[in-house]
Amino acid sequence: MQIEIQRNGEVPLSKQIYQSIVDRIRSGLLQEDAQLPSVRDLSKQLGVSLVTVVKAYQLLEHEGLVKSIQGKGTFIRVKNSGEVPDVEEIHSYDWQLSVQDYLPRSQFARFHMVPEKIHLSSSMIDPGLLPNRLIEQSIIRMLSDNPRIVSQYGEIQGDEQLRIAMSEYLNELEVPSTPDNILVTSGSQQGIDLVTRTFVGPGDVVVLEAPTYPGAIDVFRGRGATILTVPVDKDGLRVDILQNICDKYKPKVIYTVPNFHNPTGIVMTLKRRRQILKIAQSIQCLIIEDDPCSEIYLDRKPPASIKSLDYNGHVIYLKGLSKTLAPGCRIGILAATGSIFNRLMAAKANSDLGSPLLTQKAILSFINSKRTMDHLKKLRTALRIRRDLVLELLSQQMPNGVSWIIPEGGLNIWISLPTWIDSNIILLEAKKQNLSFLPGSTCYPIEQENNHLRISYSYMNEQLLKQGITILCNILQKEIASRKTSDSTPNF
Ligand code: PMP
Repeated sequence: MQIEIQRNGEVPLSKQIYQSIVDRIRSGLLQEDAQLPSVRDLSKQLGVSLVTVVKAYQLLEHEGLVKSIQGKGTFIRVKNSGEVPDVEEIHSYDWQLSVQDYLPRSQFARFHMVPEKIHLSSSMIDPGLLPNRLIEQSIIRMLSDNPRIVSQYGEIQGDEQLRIAMSEYLNELEVPSTPDNILVTSGSQQGIDLVTRTFVGPGDVVVLEAPTYPGAIDVFRGRGATILTVPVDKDGLRVDILQNICDKYKPKVIYTVPNFHNPTGIVMTLKRRRQILKIAQSIQCLIIEDDPCSEIYLDRKPPASIKSLDYNGHVIYLKGLSKTLAPGCRIGILAATGSIFNRLMAAKANSDLGSPLLTQKAILSFINSKRTMDHLKKLRTALRIRRDLVLELLSQQMPNGVSWIIPEGGLNIWISLPTWIDSNIILLEAKKQNLSFLPGSTCYPIEQENNHLRISYSYMNEQLLKQGITILCNILQKEIASRKTSDSTPNF
């Protein structure tokens, strides 16, 4: 089992071990009845004192997440299951836990596809709002014109025609690019992974926003990076804090989602974009500008991309097409200039030898046609209606003490609860009522804040959105009312 600890961090070692195990339980990497390493083994593996591990295990036990059985060991208990693990039953796969992995966290997998009927947890677009038929027709036409398309490799850099089309598309979005400095990736998730596996090794310092996109945290954690975080406010990433961190630790990479930030929906101001770039230039650091949603502006267009302000190759720009076109095609692009580009292409070759030609060609006829612009316009209209509906329901039904950020675009609303409420606990109740959302704790790379949650208004239709928001508001109303009642109960 891989547990990473940062010795010079501010979080106590026992808390880090505790958090790492909690992450694994929540990610489903550690399941009911799995046996944790003994205190002695783990303290030896991590080079920490026995007391540190004991403290971490005690904290887990206190939370009801593990059960210690004298003479047998410590076993995972899935919270609130109410059942004591049957340790007599020896699981035949238990030996696998001794095979060390390098996957300290995988929250994303947990929330991507969930069985709940009212699915507000992942920021995806309702398939009914995407141009499926057009893409289907394009695939059929292509296969009948050229059946050999599936019997050949494409270029590692990506299909040239698609790169030409994507370069024009990006230039429309005012992101300067040429077909030569575009790499086609399997979604922007792979873009994050390629940059990380190319430039980030164990101990390298990486700066992430807090909160941020959980899928990125998983990738950086997987490389053993030392992650430092910078909070976001209404103008985006706090540059004053970034400056202090950069002066002290000289990070190699800054990862940011400036447009309709995931999860908060905030748009970074132009001033901050300029400041971040200036800081990165001063310490020779790379910026990953992850931009899946700039086309989904619902009120006004976001400011110029950081990439458009960059003349020295500091910015690696990622544009995924999952939020606008076809998540199932798994196509995104990475745009970078200078010598880093070839290194990223080498990483792409190591990773998969190139994205599937079939899906690259499938979206080709769509990109840059008038149909794309019409589709995006319709998509914005449909999402504006859903966002406004949800905002209205929230203001009608949410109890006092709960607040949220009004997003000017993108797919999500970030909700903050009173600090004493843990959204992971609220989620357990929501799931019983067939509702899912993303607990905010998954979006914090280091010190987790538990009193936030993210809902997406883009996947469910209006009827299910109404049902979902009503369920959520009712659960929170009860929770807050129960606290008021217990506060007013006299203590004897
Ligand atoms: N970055 C951000 C900010 C995202 O929200 C997502 C998907 N939720 C991704 C990257 C990954 O998207 P994809 O790989 O589908 O392009």
